Amino acid sequence: MPLSYYACANCGFWQRHFAPPDCPVCSDTRNDLPEDGWHFLPETQVAATHDGDFRQVADDLWAFTTTPNLGLAGTGWLIVRPEGNIAFEAAPYHSARMLTKIAELGGIRFLAASHAHGYGALFQLQREFGPEMLAIHKDDLAMTKAFRVTTPYDDVLEIAPGYVLHHVGGHYEGQAALHDRPGRRLFCGDMFKINQDEAGRSHAISSHKAYHKDIPLTHNEVRHYRDVIAPLAFDAVLTPFEYAPEVDRDVAVAALDEALTRLPGVKRLPLGERA
Ligand SMILES: [Zn+2]
Ligand SMILES: [Zn+2]
Repeated sequence: MPLSYYACANCGFWQRHFAPPDCPVCSDTRNDLPEDGWHFLPETQVAATHDGDFRQVADDLWAFTTTPNLGLAGTGWLIVRPEGNIAFEAAPYHSARMLTKIAELGGIRFLAASHAHGYGALFQLQREFGPEMLAIHKDDLAMTKAFRVTTPYDDVLEIAPGYVLHHVGGHYEGQAALHDRPGRRLFCGDMFKINQDEAGRSHAISSHKAYHKDIPLTHNEVRHYRDVIAPLAFDAVLTPFEYAPEVDRDVAVAALDEALTRLPGVKRLPLGERA
């Protein structure tokens, strides 16, 4: 069997392999195993059965998603700027139409992701656009075999003036957030889960080690999130799954403060209710 790209049908994680023996994301405690055994979809099959959508979220920000859903159904964010576009996270797969749109918007100069649940088809973006940087925190390198990390980093990495990756750990050892200072946004990975209604309005916020199993973070993990984000100015958070303009810096910090007032435990804190 020749080397090729395969997506896990359960979570969408891509591996370059000849016959993946298992999926490291699903085998991990932070995701569920498939009920009916492993199914790995070759790239040709995914390409033949999936398309995607894109939408403009703000003047300089686009969101890319895959249809029908593949795996965890994340979102790829593209920050458009004259000095070179920044892509953070990736859609689970990009159709030719999506790649053409990214090219029309100026391609990708800098590429990064929060952690394995946000990787999507990063390999495809690197293959298509050859960005000068693909930055992943050093503690998550074991998950990056489908693409080539050009720029591993420690605690902080300013990928372009005003755009700073911060290691936050917690949910994943190497989890990182991207602070977009010019746009006053925090691309926060799965530091936060934002519950939203069908219209996309946010109504609750929580943090987890493992979302499916409701395993909470430890106090030190929550404290570390707080230490990193409290000094940052932002008016919205963006996870791989949600855009939440209702969650600014004060709301996010208050949610972490609330978690530190009680025993570790997952609580979906209604927005508007402060500790
Ligand atoms: Zn999987
Ligand atoms: Zn995650």
